[in-house]
Amino acid sequence: MIVLGAVHGNETCGTIAMRRLIEVLGTGILRIGCGSLTLVPVANPLAFALRQRVGDRNLNRNFRPTLHPQDNEDRIANVLCPMLASQDILLDLHSFHTAGEPFAMRGPGNNCGTLEPFSLANEEHALAVRLGVRRIVDGWMATYSAGVAERLARTPPANRAGLLSVDPCYGMGTAEYVRSQGGYSITLECGQHEDASAPEVAYQAIRNALAHLGLIEDTAPPACPNPEYLLLTQVVDRLHADDTFARPWTSFTPVCRGDVIGRRHSGSAVVAEQDGFVVFPNPHATVGNEWFYLAQLSNPT
Ligand SMILES: [Zn+2]
Repeated sequence: MIVLGAVHGNETCGTIAMRRLIEVLGTGILRIGCGSLTLVPVANPLAFALRQRVGDRNLNRNFRPTLHPQDNEDRIANVLCPMLASQDILLDLHSFHTAGEPFAMRGPGNNCGTLEPFSLANEEHALAVRLGVRRIVDGWMATYSAGVAERLARTPPANRAGLLSVDPCYGMGTAEYVRSQGGYSITLECGQHEDASAPEVAYQAIRNALAHLGLIEDTAPPACPNPEYLLLTQVVDRLHADDTFARPWTSFTPVCRGDVIGRRHSGSAVVAEQDGFVVFPNPHATVGNEWFYLAQLSNPT
């Protein structure tokens, strides 16, 4: 298993948790008795040093090896991709912008499709429900694919050059890359960036994963008895610096069909097309990029 922290430089809960784990391993109280464990406490050193989300761009989008790296994140991906490809399992530790409950993000169900073919959904699910969080979020790649299609529709071909957000690989992050290489992966969002409990959530998740997978001799953690499943259904971009939210949304706030979520620069309302939840609202989103997402409760699979 490989564990990543600070893929986004201001998300330090995984870094703190891994440094703690390295100390515990150093004492000899805890021993990796089977398999191998790779810890990367700071995946994006430039962003981490700057204490901000990105160095030159978002490391967790368009994540793949490139022959001619153009920026900091391209160069990091060229180091991380071979490491990730050689692993069976990734636990990627993140935190989020507004207050809320920690959650795990899974990949797709087993499928032979072209977007994200996968055959390890059962194994991935078994890990997701043992990390110590209740909420599980699905639908990342499909939502991103639809988001890219929507950007393509509004971006004239002449304006697309160098625009990573219209690349079909835009939704490909570390987790999706591991799945594409035959492994499985959970992205764990451990709490709000400054939440003092987020490093503990991250630490317990690593310990639970190690015990569940049999890398350490410890009691295997039980599956969460009451998981809540949410399916991402839509990503909505901010199109102008004057696009503003109708209220200070926090993630997973319920909305009803027709509720006004924000207003465009033109004054037109951005409304919820169906009942659901506002997820990952970012009032400071870069123009042309993800402003907020919508999700719905879904049935467990
Ligand atoms: Zn993140």
